[in-house]
Amino acid sequence: MNAPVRRHDDDVGSLPGIRAARREAFARMGVETLEDLLRLAPRRYEDRRHPRPVVELEKGETALVVGRVRSSKSFRTRAGLSILEAVVADASGTAVARWFYRGFRPQPLPVERRVALYGSVEAVRRQGPEFKSPELERLPDEEEDGPGWGRYVPVHPRTTGLSASVVRRAVWEALPATRGMPDPVPPGLLHAHDLPALGDALRALHFPDDLAEAETARRRLAFDELLVHELLLHRRRNARGELAAPPVRFPDRVRERIRARLPFELTPGQQHAVDEIVADLEQPQPMYRLLQGDVGSGKTAVAVYALLGTVASGLQVAVMAPTEVLARQHLETLESMLAGSRVRLGRLVGGRKAKARRELLARVADGEVDVVVGTHAVISEDVRFRDLGLVIVDEQHKFGVEQRRELVAKGGTKADWRRPHCLVMTATPIPRTLALTVWGDMDVSVIEGTIPGRTPVDTWVVRPAEGRRVMERVRAELAAGRQAYVIYPLVAESDKLALKDAEAGRERWARALPDHEVGLLHGRLKRDEKTAVMQAFHAGDVDLLVATVVVEVGVDVPNATVLVVEHAERFGLSQLHQLRGRIGRGTQGGLCVLVDRSKDGTPARLEVLAADTDGFAIAEEDLKLRGVGDLFGKRQHGRPAFHAASLPRDLPLLLEARDAAGGLLAADPGLAAPEHAGLARLAAQRARLLEDKSTARP
Ligand code: ADP
Ligand code: MG
Repeated sequence: MNAPVRRHDDDVGSLPGIRAARREAFARMGVETLEDLLRLAPRRYEDRRHPRPVVELEKGETALVVGRVRSSKSFRTRAGLSILEAVVADASGTAVARWFYRGFRPQPLPVERRVALYGSVEAVRRQGPEFKSPELERLPDEEEDGPGWGRYVPVHPRTTGLSASVVRRAVWEALPATRGMPDPVPPGLLHAHDLPALGDALRALHFPDDLAEAETARRRLAFDELLVHELLLHRRRNARGELAAPPVRFPDRVRERIRARLPFELTPGQQHAVDEIVADLEQPQPMYRLLQGDVGSGKTAVAVYALLGTVASGLQVAVMAPTEVLARQHLETLESMLAGSRVRLGRLVGGRKAKARRELLARVADGEVDVVVGTHAVISEDVRFRDLGLVIVDEQHKFGVEQRRELVAKGGTKADWRRPHCLVMTATPIPRTLALTVWGDMDVSVIEGTIPGRTPVDTWVVRPAEGRRVMERVRAELAAGRQAYVIYPLVAESDKLALKDAEAGRERWARALPDHEVGLLHGRLKRDEKTAVMQAFHAGDVDLLVATVVVEVGVDVPNATVLVVEHAERFGLSQLHQLRGRIGRGTQGGLCVLVDRSKDGTPARLEVLAADTDGFAIAEEDLKLRGVGDLFGKRQHGRPAFHAASLPRDLPLLLEARDAAGGLLAADPGLAAPEHAGLARLAAQRARLLEDKSTARP
């Protein structure tokens, strides 16, 4: 039998066994052609080089067995389950394997058929070791190895509808397509970065002789991914250079007026960020800048500085916050700072009365509103600005990349090449190099240093039994006129159990603190109710606020000094850090209590948090624990940004790719040269992939 000729651009559906449903499952992973499939890097490898004699197997071990089917049958159980059973013999003895099916009853395996089984030994009985649902491979008599045995075996990322062995078999069948496959990376570049050719790398990636070879291959594939990523970022940045933006002017008298409006002196760290932003705003090209600063570092004041200058230049500003609570808070901050000024503010959130909304939109379009503060309602279709000069996006990690872009695209109406400046604020502190790569098309400002007079927050990790100590401290703080948060986890807004937890929590705290006002805030409250509770807390009418994670980002009540997190073990590290950032905002210091109700030992991240208060150090730890998928919008896109590359591990490689991308585009800005055709195609493909997913909401 002759193997069919396969080409790298053949459809995966041309492979044996890949029909409609599996083809669709592949498409969900972004795999359409054989090349896509071959670029799907394994997550790990299993050492299945050597079959084990069945007599040696012990309960609990994972092993490969190669032998012949001695007998096989299939039958239905009363529970409606079908079981396929096979006794497999090698030279040393027999093993039993069983597979379970619902509904469909499979054919028994043909006797004398040579097979490989791989799985864990459930038990060892009279007939030999027993496997439950092992991986099964049917082997031709003469075969010395196959995709699933006699080698290091790749385990690919999976998706519903595709088992590991199906993916592996498909890759095995696709392997001949590596012959004659064009290599998108020019040979000179490969040489300079000491990387193998694509065809060799793909073969070694999936079916390596040893693990070192696999790693070399992975690096090559990772380089491709990172190079394409960097090419897109470079291009986007270059394209912006051709756009125009309304310059914002900061004459001295404007600077003085702004400083007079701020209720405090800017710290040197804030001033530095302001200087960078002002320098950008004065340019006739759009600013695209990320303002990074740990929670409580004072990003709002920096943004307000930019906002006031823009308004003073006769331009409009849009401020987008991730939640209504935050939008309202920003509005209040602005209202109090701007009291008595001529700046006109408008608030745009979902669910406003149609008439009020229409009126507001008309005023925005006529330029009668200077600053619009809102949630993502700000980017809805019908919002038009007269002359939008600056867009401020707060707490950027709550928004998708695409939403940010939609808002920027709202630009002025004067000409479609004119864009507003854009300032994105994030409290997800990530290392600077990594920030450059994640948001590599943006410039980055970091607010360094802390606000004077701050006393650091203490962090206790406590077990439920220590509740009394916690209660005493809370009581003492409230007695001193301070306020407190108690946070309950909420898996989803509809999670009724967690809600009950929070409600029960409120009752308990209210009983324990009869002299104090205890409020409850959760995602299922009506909009007005939420606002009312939050306002009462701001005003100090509520002393203790029991809340689900809706207070996670941005909420600023400096008088709150204690934060108790229930079920802290259910929260992620960065999330806890964000929560902790709600306190220690005034000068009185604060206490963060993490109640650990885990059954199997305190998770490492709680200890990290107790030991560290620096957001950057915490973020580094978090990245090590979780990877950076989230930062690239994995959550929004439902698909990992990279298959082979893994950050921060591949950061050095990413920096190489960044240089390479810069060099390539400097020499050939349009990637038009024939030797760059492959890269141009990959870049176009990735750009499409990102746009495809742009409708996802966070
Ligand atoms: P974040 O960076 O988390 O958004 P905020 O902008 O909410 O932080 O600021 C945190 C708190 O610090 C606020 O109560 C704010 O009024 C206060 N603050 C900000 N800058 C200064 C400063 N330079 N001096 C004193 N207090 C400041
Ligand atoms: Mg903030």
